[in-house]
Amino acid sequence: MKVPLLDLTEQYNGIRDEVMSAVVELFDSQQFILGPKVMELENRVADYCGCRYAVGVSSGTDALLISLMAIGVSHGDMVITTPYTFFSTAGVIARLGALPVFVDIDDKTYNMDPAKLAETISSMKESDRARLKAIIPVHLFGQCADMEEIIRVGDLYDLPIIEDAAQAIGAEYQFEDGEVKRAGSMGKFGCFSFFPSKNLGGFGDGGMVTTNEESAYDFLKRMRVHGSEPKYYHSVVGGNFRLDALQAAVLLIKINFLDDWTEKRKNNAGYYRKLFGEVLTNEIELPLDKTVRHVYNQFIIKVGNRRDELKKFLNDNDIGCEIYYPVPLHMQSCFSYLGYRQDSFPVSAEAAMTTLALPVYPELTRQQMEYVVDRIYCFFKKDKKIS
Ligand SMILES: *Cc1c(COP(=O)(O)O)cnc(C)c1O
Repeated sequence: MKVPLLDLTEQYNGIRDEVMSAVVELFDSQQFILGPKVMELENRVADYCGCRYAVGVSSGTDALLISLMAIGVSHGDMVITTPYTFFSTAGVIARLGALPVFVDIDDKTYNMDPAKLAETISSMKESDRARLKAIIPVHLFGQCADMEEIIRVGDLYDLPIIEDAAQAIGAEYQFEDGEVKRAGSMGKFGCFSFFPSKNLGGFGDGGMVTTNEESAYDFLKRMRVHGSEPKYYHSVVGGNFRLDALQAAVLLIKINFLDDWTEKRKNNAGYYRKLFGEVLTNEIELPLDKTVRHVYNQFIIKVGNRRDELKKFLNDNDIGCEIYYPVPLHMQSCFSYLGYRQDSFPVSAEAAMTTLALPVYPELTRQQMEYVVDRIYCFFKKDKKIS
């Protein structure tokens, strides 16, 4: 049996006709740059995330970049994030000439540890603290970071929060007072990616920034067209950060299915839990489902010191699995100038060595999941199959 880590063909086949007619309609309209489709998608995503505004941009990376630009982050500033995330979360900070300041993660959720966030800021020299401009928590793998505490720290030091929600569209977080909010609606900005492997993926690159602030919204819209408003009059230097109308047309079809796909991801995660239920409890740690709505962009298991061996074994058995992420950002050679050591962020370093992503995409069948778990069981027990 073959079990790819992600296979988008079945999903595509189910919506092919709808997508094709939307694409043909767009081509016929010859409206390729921004326009009604982008605006319609912005409204849909804003609604979906429980935000007032959304701005379509060229990628998740550019969503983060333009948010930092809107805050005015520039040379010599500092921005806090975690070292256990996709590269671009920290890459955008460095690209603006600012310094990424890392805070280690929680070992169960892989998200920013709010206690360590508070400690990092409070132990900074006063002159460094003055250089801090923002905090970027990442809702990694589809689960919201501990926003209650992160917002508390942000408020204490008057630091805006930019949510990296690239992997978490539709994820929900419950505050102590019972209020439930969606990823991207809790900070000053929420940044989303429509990279094809995300839960809402386009047919190419794309992204979105959400916000509740009208002035920030106006600024983002200007920044995405080289800072011009009106056209050819530039009060600030922006860039070409536009979302293609073609991607918006495709995403407007796909967003209708997002909740159904998310439900299937959750069911798949639940089925893995059931299958792993009584077996391998010493060998494998299952992902913690802490927030009210984890959307499982990835299903991450922790396997200890035989992770690489297991990955090879599964790959040899036609099972796709991947390491997210093999090198924590504080150990990337491009960030060696920051002067961090391997053990500067021990939880991130350990996660990079012990975690493995298993297939969890919506169209996965029960038989495929049973096969995955059976193979993992064989790897550890080397004897009988689970029944
Ligand atoms: C995918 C991703 C990004 C970047 O999105 P792109 O659309 O690929 O530029 C940023 N942060 C995280 C956590 C991601 O997973």
